[in-house]
Formats: sequence, structure tokens, C-alpha cells
Amino acid sequence: MRTLFSENILSPSPTPVPQRNPFELHFATASSLSHTSSSASTQSSPRQHDLLTQYLQQQQQHDESTRTSYESSSDRGHHVRRKGNPKILFMGLKKSGKSSVQKVVFQKLSPADTLFLEPTTKVEQTSLRTFTTIDTAEIPSHLTLDSSELDHQPLFSNAGAVIWVLDVQDEYLASIAALIETAVFLSEHYPRINFEIFIHKIDGLSEEYKYDTFREVRQRVQDELSDLGHGDRSVSYYQTSIFDHSIFEAMSKVVQKLLPQLPAMETLLNKLCSTCRIQKAYLFDVGSKIYVATDASPTFLRDYEVCSDYIDVIVDIKQIYGWHSREDNEEGGSVASGDSINESTVTLDPSGETYVYAREVDE
Ligand code: GDP
Repeated sequence: MRTLFSENILSPSPTPVPQRNPFELHFATASSLSHTSSSASTQSSPRQHDLLTQYLQQQQQHDESTRTSYESSSDRGHHVRRKGNPKILFMGLKKSGKSSVQKVVFQKLSPADTLFLEPTTKVEQTSLRTFTTIDTAEIPSHLTLDSSELDHQPLFSNAGAVIWVLDVQDEYLASIAALIETAVFLSEHYPRINFEIFIHKIDGLSEEYKYDTFREVRQRVQDELSDLGHGDRSVSYYQTSIFDHSIFEAMSKVVQKLLPQLPAMETLLNKLCSTCRIQKAYLFDVGSKIYVATDASPTFLRDYEVCSDYIDVIVDIKQIYGWHSREDNEEGGSVASGDSINESTVTLDPSGETYVYAREVDE
């Protein structure tokens, strides 16, 4: 697998490039595009990225004009506009891992410490300050949908996604039955809510068994929904574990679907990749390490892991040695605004041809 950035990303080109910083984002003007294509005429990837960007934009325009129902709105690139902050509800049987997922992703709890979490006994709502405020709520398993203690309206009316956490290390048929009930309830009463299934705790399964379990769960859910007349209900499935990056990747995808700015951010990242000849670009939220957007090229968990670990290294080094913040620069006035860019690179490859480049951006 070829990971990350193109081979010659930092190699000096035979004719000097006029830009001061090769990573600076240039918005496409007719002249900059023609310069890019002429200076990179031997490279195929920028052209491919341009074509991809154009294709994506055309697709989005087409989707906007033809969208008439919610059915396909959980597909990548389709977004339902909602008022307020993104809101995510966590549901699932007892001890399936609902609290652990939230605390590991959003509150930086160490996965090993989830062993000591107290069981959740009432609906717990939290507001998490990341790049945007994300509201979450966990519904304890004893509060079923027909329970009089569960007030549906305030919980579901403004929710963007329901995540069903299914523990694959336990007997999961009961969990599938409960999740079908929830999916049908959502279809009938709140069809705009995305339904996401985390096939969770996969760390305990062998590679082969992981795949078989994933397929079996998906097949059963689809069959049962079809039997109940809800076969067209869009459901997304993710294999997750709090002990690796899979939970962050899954959560990134769930959150992205709730961001109305996603198509614009993806288009900008496509342009960044084509202009700077970058192979893969992620826009990260540093606090939670979920990625808010990525360009249209294929996404590999391995690439995400490398970038995510690199962010950890940068944050650690920043904490030890400090870093000029934008505020310092503005207050001190000694650093020109053009010099206040926080960026760093690292190479993982002995030949030095593949780089990871990190650059901070503000809101
Ligand atoms: P809840 O009742 O659904 O909120 O479940 P908890 O979050 O309290 O988790 C129940 C148990 O599952 C805890 O002992 C966690 O350490 C464990 N757990 C959570 N996520 C994972 C996972 O991805 N893998 C494994 N092996 N255990 C997990």
C-alpha cells in the first residue's frame, strides 16, 4: 500500500517554484491552475485531483437538485441541515461499551481505565467542546423505547445520529433484536436521524472471525428490517474498539455527516491536494483527534493512524518546549504575522521521500 504523500513533495523542482511556502493554499484562478498544470506536466496526480474535484462538485450539485427524500441522506456527501449543535445519542445493551466510547473519544480517558466505569442508570447528557460543540446523550439499556420514564421528544427531536453499540464479545442476538426495534421506531417517528451501528469490542476477535461477525450482523439487520418493511432504511456499520484507532475513525465519520460545512471543506482539501501535490490530507480536531474532513482520495486506517499519532507527538513536544501561539505573537508584536504559522514535518521513510506535514489552522 502506498501511504500518505507523493514522493517528491519536498524535493526541490528543477525550476524554482515562485511560492514562498509550497504548502500555502492557493485558491484556483485561471492563471494559478494553468501554472500548476504546466509546472507539473509530468505528474498525473494533480490532474486527477482536479478532475476529482470537478466530479465531486458536479455530483453535489446533482444531489442537491435531485434529493427528494431522506432515504439516501446518510450516504457520504449528503447532508441534512439541522438547527443547533450536532447531537449524538448512544444506545445499546448494558455493558456494551457506550460510556467507554464517549469517554475515550471525547474526554481522553485511557481505555484501560474504562474497566472501572460505573454503570449508567439515567439518561446522561453532555456537551463537548471540540472544534464545534457536540451534544451527546447516553440512554441506559433499562429505559426501553416504550418505557414511560423515557421522554422521546427532548431526546430525539433535535438528534442528528443514534449510535447503537453492539458488543460482539457477548451473545449479540438480543442486542440485534433491540436495535431493530430502535431502527423501526426511528424510521417511523424520526426518519431524519442517522442510524449508526458500532460492531464493538472487535479487539477480542481473530481477523477471520472479525469479518464473519461483521457480515453476519449486517445481514441479520438488513434481513429483519426488510421483513418489517423498512428495508430502505439507511444504516451504517463500523467495526470498532477503544483499544485502537478504529473508534476515532468511526466517530469521525458519524460526526462528519452532521456538519453542513463538510462538502465545502472537502472541496478545499481536494484543491489543497491538487495544488500542493499532497497525496492525502486530513483536517483534524486536535483535542479529540477525530478528523473533520478529508479529500476525495481513498482513505486507509493506517494513514489516519500515522497522522493521529503524529498529532500526539506534536502536542507532547509543545507541552514540553512551548510554541508561539497566535495570541503571543499579536500581543508581543515582535513576530510578523506571516511568521506565526505553526507547522512541522516528519519523515518515516529511510529514503526521506514520504513526509507527514502538520500545520495548524484556526477556526
Ligand atoms: P455501558 O454499560 O454500555 O456504558 O458499558 P461500559 O462503557 O461501562 O463498558 C463495559 C465494559 O466494556 C468495560 O469493562 C469496558 O472496559 C469494556 N469495553 C468497552 N469498550 C471496549 C472495547 O472496545 N474492547 C474491549 N475489549 N472492552 C471494552
